[in-house]
Amino acid sequence: MNKIDTKRPRVRRASSEATKFHMSSRAIDRSVEEYAAWSEKKCVKHLAHVRWGSFETMPCPHCSTCTRHYFYEADLRWKCKHCGSKFSVTSQTVFSGRKMPYRKLLASLHLWACGSAGQPTLELRRMLKHKSYNTAFTFTGKMREGLVRGFNTGLISGVVEMDGAHASGRRASEKRGKPLNYRAPSEVLESEESALLTTAARQKKRRGEKAAAIAAGGKVDPNTGQVFPETRRMVFTMRRRSGAKGQGAVITRVGVGLSETPDVVEALAKSYVAIPESVLATDTGTAFSKLGKRFQLHMQVNHSETLSGPDGAHNNNAESFSARQDRSEKGVYLNIEPKYLHDYAVETAFREDNRRKAPGAQADLALHHALNVGESHFWRGYTHGRHRGYEVLATGTRSYPSSGPPKGVAQMAAHFGRLPR
Ligand SMILES: [Zn+2]
Repeated sequence: MNKIDTKRPRVRRASSEATKFHMSSRAIDRSVEEYAAWSEKKCVKHLAHVRWGSFETMPCPHCSTCTRHYFYEADLRWKCKHCGSKFSVTSQTVFSGRKMPYRKLLASLHLWACGSAGQPTLELRRMLKHKSYNTAFTFTGKMREGLVRGFNTGLISGVVEMDGAHASGRRASEKRGKPLNYRAPSEVLESEESALLTTAARQKKRRGEKAAAIAAGGKVDPNTGQVFPETRRMVFTMRRRSGAKGQGAVITRVGVGLSETPDVVEALAKSYVAIPESVLATDTGTAFSKLGKRFQLHMQVNHSETLSGPDGAHNNNAESFSARQDRSEKGVYLNIEPKYLHDYAVETAFREDNRRKAPGAQADLALHHALNVGESHFWRGYTHGRHRGYEVLATGTRSYPSSGPPKGVAQMAAHFGRLPR
């Protein structure tokens, strides 16, 4: 019988900074259980602190007078000492007109913050027994809106890594659940038939297919000349490196474009990066070469040779954002409509930047944005059929009408000639 060799050298792997954080007591603060024990007044106090930094003194949302307003315990609202208007802690915020109890709002928010790549709406509904799917859906949508309008703004500087990644869109869902390199029987047959054709006939057939794809709404990629489907989008990220060893990137900005071209990356850099005082780090993508000349320095890493070149020439932090975005699309949200892709990318950026904060702290930060960007532009009246009619792209907003049958009870009744059952 073999004796166990006790002197066998043990493999020791150094913990990464991320592991150290997740195993520490800093990784947890509050729980849903604790929120459940909070009174509605305690919730309002908490929300007031997150929104205004105080429960006693705050600006009136109607006239901006900042003083100690009259607080009414019965309905947990204030009456303005100057204009006499009544207001609650969610007045003039994305949650104005809310019917959800405060306790449930905070519990939803906590669970939303607990996800590392996102929080599926269906799961949220099941966990907290939200009466309708729309309640949970508009809640998560409004949280994202707060981040789009409050978090993903302003210029970043320093060493900025930039990268673009294909967002899955419709293309990925076609391949979902199929083995690697899967080809449908029709595709196999087609390639066998094509092998029998002469070169000229094959080229003619390809030209015909390309024309048909363009006629069906496809777009030509200016870099490769290939036709891509109308629903294809790319998510671009810009991340400021922290400079401290093992700490990765600290501030992230994101945007969505149709393809990786010089005009798209320039529009993004102009909106989010203080170009003259920054250093750009990218891969060798041709779209970045003109833009790079306007920075103090342009570091490029050739990804076909190495992942990290000398003197910090890499964009691995930008790649790590793309990895989380990919997990979010393929593992959590599954089928993000191109129209809302920007919102989801911003959510990922927020989660990535706050990856080393406990869920309660993350929730408070996200809530601060949601309570300080004014009323919702994207989700007010959503359940009554008022859907956002545009998408946010790097080069500006673009019209994008709602898909599917008409939304909302009145519109559906007009369309189908009867009330929905
Ligand atoms: Zn007032």
